[in-house]
Amino acid sequence: MNEVKTPKKPLIYYYVIVLLVLMLFNFLAMPWMAQRQIREVDYNTFVEMVKSGEVGRAEIQEQENRILFTDPDETVIYKTAMVGDPDLIQRLLDADVPFYGEEIEQASPLLTFLLFWVLPIVIFVAIGQYMSKRMMKNAGGPNAMMFGKSNAKVYVKSSEGIKFSDVAGEDEAKDNLKEIVEYLHDPKKYQEIGASMPKGILLVGPPGTGKTMLAKAVAGEANVPFFSMSGSEFVEMFVGMGASKVRDLFRQAKEKAPCIVFIDEIDAIGKKRDGQLGGNDEREQTLNQLLTEMDGFEGNNGVIILAATNRPESLDPALTRPGRFDRRVPVELPDLKGREDILKVHAKKIKVAEDVDWGKVARMASGASGAELANIVNEAALRAVRDGRRFATQADLEESIEVVIAGYQKKNAILTDQEKWTVAYHEVGHALVAAMQTHSAPVQKITIIPRTSGALGYTMQVEEGNHYLMSQEELENRIATLTGGRAAEELIFHSASTGASNDIEQATKLARAMITRYGMSEGFGMVALETVNNQYLGGDTSLACSAETAAEIDKQVVSLVKKQHEKAAKILEENQDKLHELSKYLYEKETITGDEFMEILNR
Ligand code: ADP
Ligand code: ZN
Repeated sequence: MNEVKTPKKPLIYYYVIVLLVLMLFNFLAMPWMAQRQIREVDYNTFVEMVKSGEVGRAEIQEQENRILFTDPDETVIYKTAMVGDPDLIQRLLDADVPFYGEEIEQASPLLTFLLFWVLPIVIFVAIGQYMSKRMMKNAGGPNAMMFGKSNAKVYVKSSEGIKFSDVAGEDEAKDNLKEIVEYLHDPKKYQEIGASMPKGILLVGPPGTGKTMLAKAVAGEANVPFFSMSGSEFVEMFVGMGASKVRDLFRQAKEKAPCIVFIDEIDAIGKKRDGQLGGNDEREQTLNQLLTEMDGFEGNNGVIILAATNRPESLDPALTRPGRFDRRVPVELPDLKGREDILKVHAKKIKVAEDVDWGKVARMASGASGAELANIVNEAALRAVRDGRRFATQADLEESIEVVIAGYQKKNAILTDQEKWTVAYHEVGHALVAAMQTHSAPVQKITIIPRTSGALGYTMQVEEGNHYLMSQEELENRIATLTGGRAAEELIFHSASTGASNDIEQATKLARAMITRYGMSEGFGMVALETVNNQYLGGDTSLACSAETAAEIDKQVVSLVKKQHEKAAKILEENQDKLHELSKYLYEKETITGDEFMEILNR
């Protein structure tokens, strides 16, 4: 619950590094030190060395009663005691050894002491300081010296520079946020009239739709500092840290006002306080502190809090009441136009062929989020490099959509002939049922090249335009289409394969939703039997009815799917020759486009 995060670099690293530095120091400095150490020789040796020319320079130190001398390279220093030798000067003169002049430097005892004892300690301490500073930065401060300090990052506009123009699509969200920018530019205008800005704005939407980007863009447009912190960062450490971090964040923000405070994943702290036994005290304290801070500052002090979440339904109502996060800005998945714009924004960062049809790419990438689109463009650039091209082409983009959605092509997955036929009939079954119901091209493209995601075949659906309502008939047709794959297998091979598991899952989900949520059941009327838990993350549901009703729901789901399955089977049976023709084409070519599909169908 109250996790204690271990520092990212354990202490052992510290010791290893210190040890290495000491070894390096010894390795480099010791030889030098050793040389500067004075070697003591007896007088005879000195005389011999002078004679044989092994002495470079000498210095007679009468007070100390000794002679210092070096070898010819002056790397080693020798010392010998002075004896009453009257020939000393003559010997040196004969051997041409200079003995007056520069003193022979020797390592003083003080220097030796410093080098051997003090320097290593200084190095030790310096590295220690450096490392602990780094650890503080990395770990976000589980450190005695940093107790209670927030590590909110300060982004200043110039360093990030994200503007609204960098965020493609999302026009409603941008319109909504422009008011904030206006306010930050000229708060007086609002104060004069007595209007106060909302203190908190909640950006709500699926992951990767650009919520963080939008928050940064508000700061960038308004040219104000941007503090950002993730909700999970508040609650990750010791008890009480979360609350004090909130306090600290707001203290910093107020100093820098006007500014933007951005809290990502606010659901991590803002979950409903359910009062369960063993609830997360730490989280609740943090949330309470956040609420207190938000109440605490007066309307117009210029601190605007933006928060992002993809599970708005789980937020505590106290957080969303007026005066706190009272404005909600939906940031939805981009529509066709939005996707095209996002692709173009990201395409500016790479080199692309001039004839790329962005509309087509956007149509193919239906349902992709902004982050996925960014990824698609980058993947296309990578593919171009891999193939030795200097710019990305339409083909690169199309292939990278499939990579992002379905994974890489599995080059060495070898399907048996029978499997390949099965996959071909299965995929054509889907497409044919769809086409016969709507009388239009149902797919962009079908391929039966296996993908690393495990899909053996892959159908890219045609974007149905911006579709906000679906009729009961359309929903039923969708279920029929989903069962079309299995129906084709049954019709042709008189057997079932495991390839339909995903279809079954989707068809069931759709049928359940029709009965429990859309009021398209027999006999239940307009009663909600299920509630959606998280709209933006998979959309799990939970039942809200009695056991008997649940049993009845199951019965109706089964009969609904069965009816559509029979309808699909009938359509395929009536068009068996087309089914064979299309499947044969797909089997041979491994890929069929929507146009080719319709061309064969209408022949
Ligand atoms: P979120 O916070 O909603 O999960 P982000 O703002 O972190 O999403 O977006 C992730 C990445 O996706 C961004 O860095 C950007 O490259 C890309 N992206 C998402 N939405 C858009 C958009 N509308 N326009 C341009 N790029 C986008
Ligand atoms: Zn299928």
